[in-house]
Amino acid sequence: MRLTSDVHLVGGGTLSGFGVSSDFDAHCYLVDGGDEQILVECGMGTETGFRRVTGNIRRAGYDPAAITTLFLTHYHTDHAGGASVYREHLGLSVATGTATGRALEAGDHEATSFCRAQAAGVFPEDYSYEACPVDDLLPDGTQRSVGRLTLTYLDTPGHCGGHGSYLVEGGEQTYLFAGDAIFAWGKLHLQAIPDCDLQASLATVLALAELEFDSLLPGHGAIALHDGKAHIGMAKEAIDQLAVPPRLV
Ligand SMILES: [Zn+2]
Repeated sequence: MRLTSDVHLVGGGTLSGFGVSSDFDAHCYLVDGGDEQILVECGMGTETGFRRVTGNIRRAGYDPAAITTLFLTHYHTDHAGGASVYREHLGLSVATGTATGRALEAGDHEATSFCRAQAAGVFPEDYSYEACPVDDLLPDGTQRSVGRLTLTYLDTPGHCGGHGSYLVEGGEQTYLFAGDAIFAWGKLHLQAIPDCDLQASLATVLALAELEFDSLLPGHGAIALHDGKAHIGMAKEAIDQLAVPPRLV
């Protein structure tokens, strides 16, 4: 699904997305920098999900095997669970924040909360979230070029430990790939997991409100191609009134 000349939505489940891959997948985006394409998020990497995401990439006119890098915002299963599948089958590199990368490499599912999600019956019982080598650990502020575009990794903790977002500049618009840090209408996704930190999440909102960008591309739900900052502003307005912004679910 073409969003702009730079960005296609190639994955996302039916539960909180547009039903373009499999049930639990977060939104997965292809970013086209001209002579290089990357993915932001990969979803769970189930057989169906992988087939649909790669099919969507082909239908958008790209070769899945030519994608150079998978950038991940955080280690939750619906965003990153398929990283090993994509790395193995597409031969791409995996890049993410340092804490996320360490948990992924170790297959540390206390850290990723996969154990808790499985115990709660969130994901199918037979699903396995495999450890994945990480090729590029990104400290806060790290920049990478993607063809003609520049991608900047930003620490945006709160939803979980080590959560990051990506600011992509140099294209038709400036994009914020916000993962689960913030959603349309200024909503937050706060969960009963040990590394969810409300104060960190509120500080992240205030930091994101200082950025200049056009499109807010979150991990779930509505996408704002224009005036993305207005949605961050709604959350900031709540915080400025000492209120906690509304929750996504
Ligand atoms: Zn998450």
